Amino acid sequence: MRDLSAGPRVLLKRLRELMAEPLEPQERLDQIVRQIASNMVAEVCSVYVLRADGVLELYATEGLNKDAVHLAQLKMGQGLVGTIAASAQPLNLSDAQAHPAFRYLPETGEEIYHSFLGVPILRAGRSLGVLVVQNKAQRNYREDELEALETTAMVLAEMIATGELKKITRPGLELDLTRAVTIDGDSYNEGIGLGYVVLHEPRIVVTNLLNEDTETELRRLADALGSLRISIDDMLSRREVSMEGEHREVLETYRMFAHDQGWVRRMEEAIHNGLTAEAAVEKVQSDTKARMIRLTDPYLRERMHDFDDLANRLLRQLTGFSPHSQTEGFPADAIVFARAMGAAELLDYPRANLRGLVLEEGAVTSHVVIVARAMGIAVVGQAAGAVALAENGDPVIIDGDDGKVHVRPMADLQKAYEEKVKLRAKRQEQFRALRDVEPITKDGKRITLQMNAGLLVDLPQLSESGADGIGLFRTELQFMISSTMPKGEEQENFYRSVLRQAGGRPVTFRTLDIGGDKVVSYFRGHEEENPALGWRAIRLSLDRPGLLRTQLRALLKAAAGAELKMMLPMVTEVAEIRAVRELLQKEVQHLSKFGHPLPKKLQFGAMLEVPALMWQLDELMQEVDFVSVGSNDLFQFTMAVDRGNARVSDRFDVLGRPFLRILRDIVRAADRHETPVTLCGEMASKPLSAMALLGIGFRSISMSPTSIGPVKAMLLGLDVDQLGRELHAALDDHHSHLPLRDILVGFAEDNNIPL
Ligand code: PEP
Ligand code: MG
Repeated sequence: MRDLSAGPRVLLKRLRELMAEPLEPQERLDQIVRQIASNMVAEVCSVYVLRADGVLELYATEGLNKDAVHLAQLKMGQGLVGTIAASAQPLNLSDAQAHPAFRYLPETGEEIYHSFLGVPILRAGRSLGVLVVQNKAQRNYREDELEALETTAMVLAEMIATGELKKITRPGLELDLTRAVTIDGDSYNEGIGLGYVVLHEPRIVVTNLLNEDTETELRRLADALGSLRISIDDMLSRREVSMEGEHREVLETYRMFAHDQGWVRRMEEAIHNGLTAEAAVEKVQSDTKARMIRLTDPYLRERMHDFDDLANRLLRQLTGFSPHSQTEGFPADAIVFARAMGAAELLDYPRANLRGLVLEEGAVTSHVVIVARAMGIAVVGQAAGAVALAENGDPVIIDGDDGKVHVRPMADLQKAYEEKVKLRAKRQEQFRALRDVEPITKDGKRITLQMNAGLLVDLPQLSESGADGIGLFRTELQFMISSTMPKGEEQENFYRSVLRQAGGRPVTFRTLDIGGDKVVSYFRGHEEENPALGWRAIRLSLDRPGLLRTQLRALLKAAAGAELKMMLPMVTEVAEIRAVRELLQKEVQHLSKFGHPLPKKLQFGAMLEVPALMWQLDELMQEVDFVSVGSNDLFQFTMAVDRGNARVSDRFDVLGRPFLRILRDIVRAADRHETPVTLCGEMASKPLSAMALLGIGFRSISMSPTSIGPVKAMLLGLDVDQLGRELHAALDDHHSHLPLRDILVGFAEDNNIPL
């Protein structure tokens, strides 16, 4: 009787020898299929390889008509072979011709074979081809035979991935592995980057596939699993993992999977079939991934990621791989691919080499995206399947304007983008030339152009852009990218560095604006149904005076001997400003009592983001030293549209009559009280809307640093008084239906104003 477990082992041993022999690729493939057929007592064994054009081509066969090699072909999804590749699932049939997908290829002469067993050739869950055995007699292949064939398919996956088959690919054709693919995602930050793929979690390439000794490998797997379980328990017992919340849930799920008997058994089985421990982990990982990659249920997809992460950890254990060994040879133009990533991890990359970031998940508001935007690199998020489709070092283009990622682009596309990038660089050059030009309109009005910031990486942009100062410094970013609450001293040091790097230009610090879409992992309040309208920003600060006082003290100390400008976010009632002023007073007294030097000037302002303040404008203007309009939130609350939901937020226009009238009322109230007013929302970042703001009377705006150049170019050609007259007339005309946007665009065109 045949020894079941010895069968695949003998086969793998033979394959290992074949891989080592100096054979031409076709000869090697031919011998491989011959070996498999004889070992599995099958009359036929064939290998189909997926080409870049989505066709599965017969590359080698034992048993079918040899003349059909490189001629017989099936499209993805077509016939049994195409079905296996498309679904990445095996098919085990005792009567293949009865299967609805069966398609007869006359050139192969396969009509006499009844039973059929086919498995996908997988790599990272992606089909690269199909391996098939067939028999004349009607029979059911056993589970262990299926396992053995899957294991063998790994050897073929390795052969395809190393590019060995290129030599026997017909001229003009390419294999799927090198296919150009375009991934559609969402644009999270504008910009175009050309460069090379850097996988944030590099795939561990298992080259040592076939084992010498089953017992040793089983022991290695058991040891690695043991350490993995201990490390998860360790993480769970650490204090920084709060008792509840997502982080803990993820770890609990990991623990559950790490003890999952089904998972462990499948890996052990693969070792019994002749694989090394790491190859067994990889095989099961790839099978699981292939099965789950097609899931649409977000909960199950998340579980797939958990499983994948766990398998990666196990692979690292088994191969002694450390991601740091990857930093050598880091490309000069790197585009980082990740499923998800923490903000701090992005900061670990050499900034000068980064050209873009591709995320399979994420949201515009996620921390890593905030940091990437501050770094000024292109970001595409929700790029499904990006990590599995790319290999380290693949050439890639990221188009942050269109939300597209072109992996291994064709030459003409590459050329077109190179032109685009050149053109942009030229435009940037022109903007840079404006850096030292004073922002004075054609009719002689000096406009203050400031930039928004929140991290130290933003600071160099101050002198690069020629901004007058920082009109909005979002202090919550330091909290959002840190894994623990920054202590008072850390905050103080941070603010001091910001002021030092600003080199005397004014910086307006905004006190903590957390809550809503700004999530701080270690500071979780209760779940809220409407977080945007909930416990956030100044509300939270007033309820947690300790937190606010620590920040106020840090700001006062950091600005000792200098000027301190600070403002409060999301004020709803003027009374809130008074309450904070009292706390500030207490801090000032406290510091002077202990002989600390104080700022030589203090300016205290408020943001206008909540419509209720529109009916307290006169009190507000008298209460503060300055007002800054947060148009992102003011628009959201005025128009009742979620700013993060493109389905509704794109529906209404910031340049529509209602919103512009509101902004004009604010400017008028500020003028009445001679209170300086500025605007620091996204509206200031686009030349057209910035032009409208100047038209209704703003003389100071704050924007993203890259917008300073384009906005300055716009205002240098603008007669602001003339625009003001036309715009006011249009806003006061209650009968016109002409969209204001059209009026503004027309004005710019008539007056040659660059937008
Ligand atoms: C705003 O709301 O317009 C604003 C500038 O604040 P943030 O975008 O940080 O909410
Ligand atoms: Mg806001």
